[in-house]
Amino acid sequence: MDETLITVKEVALNNNCPECYGRGGLILTFKQKVIENQLYKSITSEIKESIHCKTCNNIVYPEQWTDDIDRIVEYQQKAFKALASSTYIKKTSWIIIALVSIVILGTILLVAFV
Ligand SMILES: [Zn+2]
Repeated sequence: MDETLITVKEVALNNNCPECYGRGGLILTFKQKVIENQLYKSITSEIKESIHCKTCNNIVYPEQWTDDIDRIVEYQQKAFKALASSTYIKKTSWIIIALVSIVILGTILLVAFV
């Protein structure tokens, strides 16, 4: 079973970077967890947000966030619309379901007519 995080939204922040003190390089990224295996793909409601700086290429961890960054992240979290959590059944599953149905139908027909 594969767990992946897909990027749903990226927001450029206007705050100073706690690492390089540059302005305009901070990117807030919202990622949503997706679980996938051979039979289905499921979008979970688990959201992870992270900030990195494209100027100095550092990840800015929550412990380094200033009050300003905290506030803007909180605001963005409220504005953020996550993908609806859902599960898709893949083709492999449908083939299995179809085969099982045929076998069941076949058995019923055999029992009824023999
Ligand atoms: Zn930086």
